[in-house]
Amino acid sequence: MLKAITGTKDILPTEIQRWKYLEKVVEEIFTGFNYKEIRTPVFEETALFARSIGEETDIVGKEMYTFIDKGKTSLTLKPEMTASVVRAFIEHSLGKYQSLNKFFYISPMFRQERPQAGRQRQFHQFGGEALGSTSPLLDAEIIIIVYKILSGLGLKDLTVKLNSLGVPGSRENYKNLLREFLNDSKDKLSGDSRKRLDQNILRIFDSKVESDQEILKSAPFLIDYIDEESRTDFEVVKNLLKQSNIPFEIDPKLVRGLDYYTKTTFEIVSGKVGSQSALCGGGRYDLLVEQLGGEPTPGVGFAAGMERILFACENEQSLNLPEENIDLYIIKLDKNLSSKVFDLALYFRKGDLVVDYDYLDRSVKAQMREANKFNARYVLFIGGDEFQSGKLNLKNMGTGEQKLIGLDNYSEIINLVRK
Ligand code: AMP
Repeated sequence: MLKAITGTKDILPTEIQRWKYLEKVVEEIFTGFNYKEIRTPVFEETALFARSIGEETDIVGKEMYTFIDKGKTSLTLKPEMTASVVRAFIEHSLGKYQSLNKFFYISPMFRQERPQAGRQRQFHQFGGEALGSTSPLLDAEIIIIVYKILSGLGLKDLTVKLNSLGVPGSRENYKNLLREFLNDSKDKLSGDSRKRLDQNILRIFDSKVESDQEILKSAPFLIDYIDEESRTDFEVVKNLLKQSNIPFEIDPKLVRGLDYYTKTTFEIVSGKVGSQSALCGGGRYDLLVEQLGGEPTPGVGFAAGMERILFACENEQSLNLPEENIDLYIIKLDKNLSSKVFDLALYFRKGDLVVDYDYLDRSVKAQMREANKFNARYVLFIGGDEFQSGKLNLKNMGTGEQKLIGLDNYSEIINLVRK
């Protein structure tokens, strides 16, 4: 039997209501902050991701879906969105028309990771990017937006983790310090961490190996070595979050997996989704636009994992969505009334009612069962003696009340059902 590819999932009709609700909340909150939606292609030239995310990162090093197309170009299914947004921003000179651009997106992403709870190979992210200012107001705004979305979904068990990575200059000095410190315990580090010692030393903080974490306990932290400007901006971000009643904690180990971050980085984790607890992550990337060939333009943004968020909602029972229903189900008592039912359904649908009926010539009892399955608010019976005497019987399924309505008075049915 053919099956969906490992690490990918169908989103079935029974789950769509929750997805749409999440998308609606995302769109409403971003729109309230005047972020504009952007949609970019599913694949890009591989070089875009290699140059932005960083050759040494897990994403570029081992997780990308890369293929050579018939024109012999190396293409990659997008593993994240910031690089694509920045590429579009540069390509369409968006910075020329407007000095500050605020974007949001909702999109599938692709990473060849080991599938497990909270980790898929095709997953979905929503996110925001603000390009054009170094103001820490935007760092705070971005965090507030995603916090509002998550708390708007009723999630309670949330922790905002905050750190600052400073600018590359101060980071280089710090990396040397850290390397010196770790060299002393090099033999005790895990194989992966030893590799990172030379390639991407900051990522050692991401290690899940307990003995690595033990060693790191007494390591110097980047936050204590960042430059003056980053420190001042960090204070502003913290104060703005405090004044907006967003609880946060400083996590000096939060280095994030992508190379392009500068200054503020953050993650929001949920206590309700197991080991893959990060619901979103983001931060500032002041050098990325320039690095990809654009005019120097600072930026800040985040991406949030939609599967994980919906999983958290399920675990916290936080979404009380109304039961889905339809307005009207038409039941025919007489098989030869099919084309009449067909016509009537079209008429009522034109009146903006959600209408369905039986296509399988089933018994009245089976049609009634179907109406209940669809949670129909009203049922309209067509046929039998009443129909012969020019009437239709409309039943309110909530109250059980029935009403006879003249065959020439369909608009009354629309009015009654619409409420
Ligand atoms: P990142 O782009 O790696 O910063 O990830 C941002 C968010 O996307 C994470 O916090 C997760 O919620 C989500 N995410 C990342 N990778 C995956 C994945 N493989 N499967 C499901 N969600 C993911």
